[in-house]
Amino acid sequence: MLIDSHCHLDAMEFNQEQEAIIKAALDHGIEKIIVPAVNRKSFDDVIEIRKKFSNCFYALGFHPMHIGDMKDNDLDTLQSYLNTYEPIAVGEIGLDFFFTKDNKSLQEEIFIAQLKLAQAFDLPVIMHVRQAIDDVLKYLRRYPVRGGIAHAFNGSRQQAEAFIQLGFKLGFGGAMTYPRATHIQALAKSLPIESIVLETDAPDIPPSWLGNQGRNTPGELLQIATFFAELRGMNLTSVIEQSHQNTLDALPKIAQLCTLTENLH
Ligand SMILES: [Zn+2]
Ligand SMILES: [Zn+2]
Repeated sequence: MLIDSHCHLDAMEFNQEQEAIIKAALDHGIEKIIVPAVNRKSFDDVIEIRKKFSNCFYALGFHPMHIGDMKDNDLDTLQSYLNTYEPIAVGEIGLDFFFTKDNKSLQEEIFIAQLKLAQAFDLPVIMHVRQAIDDVLKYLRRYPVRGGIAHAFNGSRQQAEAFIQLGFKLGFGGAMTYPRATHIQALAKSLPIESIVLETDAPDIPPSWLGNQGRNTPGELLQIATFFAELRGMNLTSVIEQSHQNTLDALPKIAQLCTLTENLH
């Protein structure tokens, strides 16, 4: 039972093809897909995806690269959506100083506001931490939440350990599959297995075998898991089971929702 812990199924690239993509992923053993929202519009889109496909689970939040188009009352809207639609996490939130540092203080303000919402609703967070890990850690210490995932992790070992200590899992995906990604590979190989979750981040971060032309989809997770298993010298079945369990530990509402559906049948 593979679980793609980070996939933007609502992205334009997948427009109108979600059913085929989810079916193809299921054929590759990807049973569950976590879909984090990125902006106000995607709140409704990811909720709609869950209505159609019960193996998809959504998080709601404002991505740091999308805060430029936020409106004044958007944080209030997030609060009322958290109340009404009960997502499995607040996300995708975080900081991105690779894309731009020009709006650093605005990014921080929105990030902090969303951490406070995660505290108020007792939800884990799904975080984007590109070139901003020390700042993210600083705010997590100031506004502690009940863990979650630091996705597409590419920090130092010390930073990884700091996240783990704060109750977080680290997301690994396509980026580790490139021959030159020796740093990410070393982390993926040696961090405690309980702290690792797998992701495609589709349609972003295509794995090495897709080349420039190929489209990244959640179906790639099987090959990513296979790559990871070889890297760690583990068998694929244990990797699949362990990473599934780790994701449920980070996002416990998924297990609750699954039991609920089973009881209905
Ligand atoms: Zn991200
Ligand atoms: Zn993302």
